[in-house]
Amino acid sequence: MAIGIDPEMETYQEIAKALENRLAELTSNITEIDNELRSLLPADWKEQATQLENQDALEGIEKSKLQEIHQIREALQRIGEGSYGVCAQCGETIDPRRLKALPTATRCIACAG
Ligand SMILES: [Zn+2]
Repeated sequence: MAIGIDPEMETYQEIAKALENRLAELTSNITEIDNELRSLLPADWKEQATQLENQDALEGIEKSKLQEIHQIREALQRIGEGSYGVCAQCGETIDPRRLKALPTATRCIACAG
């Protein structure tokens, strides 16, 4: 008896791998940002304003990356639980092409649009 390979499951495994790579990348980005934030010590009062602006910008970037990390972890959890690829709103299967383009999507095109 042949064991059939579920093409959706295969797609999800591919997505999981891509998400894990992205997660590793984001984690190292966060480490870099943290190091940079720590090194931003005002040397001169005239430079303080600029440095505070840089700090604000970096903190903004860090915040959005942390948010992405959170979404990726949730997506990976859904893949692990087998609830991935199901629209959170209507319960329909989300188009795998949509998931490949936006792996953290929790709603189908119809519900998101
Ligand atoms: Zn939907």
